[in-house]
Amino acid sequence: MEKVILIKYGELTTKKANRNLFVNTLYKNICDKLKDYEVKISKNRVRMFIKTNEDENIIVNKLQEVFGIHSIVVCYVVNNNIDTIKQSVLEVVSNIKFKTFKVETKRSNKNFEFSSMEFNNIIGSLILKNIDNIRVDVHNPDYILKLEIREDNTYIYTKEIAGLGGYPTKVAGRGLLMLSGGIDSPVAGFLAMKRGIEVECIYFESPPHTSEGAKLKVKNLVKTLCKYQAKIKLHIVYFTKIQEQIYKNIDSSYMITIMRRMMYRISKNVASSNNCLVIINGESVGQVASQTLSSMNVINSVTNFPVLRPVCCLDKLEIIDISKKIGTYDISILPYEDCCTIFLPKHPVINPSLEKAINYEELINYEELINNIKVDTIIIDSNYEEFDF
Ligand code: ATP
Ligand code: MG
Repeated sequence: MEKVILIKYGELTTKKANRNLFVNTLYKNICDKLKDYEVKISKNRVRMFIKTNEDENIIVNKLQEVFGIHSIVVCYVVNNNIDTIKQSVLEVVSNIKFKTFKVETKRSNKNFEFSSMEFNNIIGSLILKNIDNIRVDVHNPDYILKLEIREDNTYIYTKEIAGLGGYPTKVAGRGLLMLSGGIDSPVAGFLAMKRGIEVECIYFESPPHTSEGAKLKVKNLVKTLCKYQAKIKLHIVYFTKIQEQIYKNIDSSYMITIMRRMMYRISKNVASSNNCLVIINGESVGQVASQTLSSMNVINSVTNFPVLRPVCCLDKLEIIDISKKIGTYDISILPYEDCCTIFLPKHPVINPSLEKAINYEELINYEELINNIKVDTIIIDSNYEEFDF
C-alpha cells in the first residue's frame, strides 16, 4: 500500500474561470513551503497529491500554514480491485482503536460494480467479521472509515485534517498593511493574506521617541507572518519630524486625528509606488477614539484609495483568539511603546470635524515633509535573524 497526502482545495473550486491560476498558484506555494523536504507533488483540477518518506506529521503541519487548502487527508492508495481494497482496509483498521464505527464511501467512478451504499455494507460486514468487540454506529461513531473510489485508484483515508481555507496567497494582487506593534494589525494582515492578497508592510517609527526594541518587535511580527507568505517587504517610515511638528503646533485633542491622516497620506504614496492596490489596517470600530465612525470618516477622507479593515467588526476577544492561533499574540504584548502611544493626548477628540482637522493641518508644512520623508525597505523571510528575543 502506498501512503499519500491528498490535498482538497478550498473555495477556489467555485471560481471556474480562474481555476488554473488558483491551482497553479497553490501548487507553487506548496512547493515553496516544502522546498526543504523530499516530496513528490502532483496535481489535477480537483486534488493535489504528495508522496514522501518524510515524517507525515511535519509535512501536515507545514501544509496547515498554506492558504487555499480545505483539508489535508493522509491516505493509502490502492487499485480498484475489490479484493485488494478489502485486504488494505483490514490492514488499515487493525492499527486503529475504536469501539463503534461507520463506513463512508464516495464513488466518483461510476463503472465501479457497487453503489456507495452497497459498498458501505460490504466493507462494514468485513470489518465486523474480522475485529472483535466493535459495532456499527451510524450517528455517533468513534471512527469513520472513509473510502474514495475514483477512476484511477481507491483512496483509504486514515485521517483528515482541516486546512486554513481561503485563497492561495498572491492570487488577488498586492496590498500594503499598516503594521504597528499591537495585536490588531498582524491579525488584519493574516486575514488579508487569507483572501489571496500578497501583503507588504509599512511601519511608522519616531526615533528617538520610539526605541529600537519597538522596531525589532515589528520585524519579529513580520517574520511570524512569513509562515503564511514566504517573503514580506517591510517599509520603515521615519515619522519623527512630522510627529514633532504635530506635537508642537496642533491642539492636543486633534493630534491623533492629524497624525493618522498623515499616516494615510504616506501609506497611499508608498502603496502606489509599490503597485499595491489597497491599504490594509487593524482598525476596529469603536475600539479607541480614532476608530469611532466619525473619526474614521475624517481620517479616511484624505484619500479615496481603498482601505480594507479585516478586523473592523470583530470583538477584541475574537481578534486575540486569532492572534494566539497565528503566533503573533506573545510578540504583540511585549511592552514596547508605539509612536501613537508616545504622543497620546489625555483627551483625544471622539467626534472630530473635518473642517477643524483641515484648519489645524494648515499650521504645518506637511506636504513638503511628506514628499521628503525617509523610507527604508527591507525584505524579511522566516530565516531573518537580526534579533534575539
Ligand atoms: P494595533 O493593535 O494593531 O496596534 P490599535 O488598536 O492599537 O491597533 P491604533 O493604534 O489606533 O489601534 O491603530 C490603528 C491601526 O493603525 C493599527 O491597527 C495599524 O494598522 C495602524 N497603525 C497604528 N500605528 C501604526 C504604526 N506605528 N505603524 C504602522 N501602522 C500603524
Ligand atoms: Mg497600536
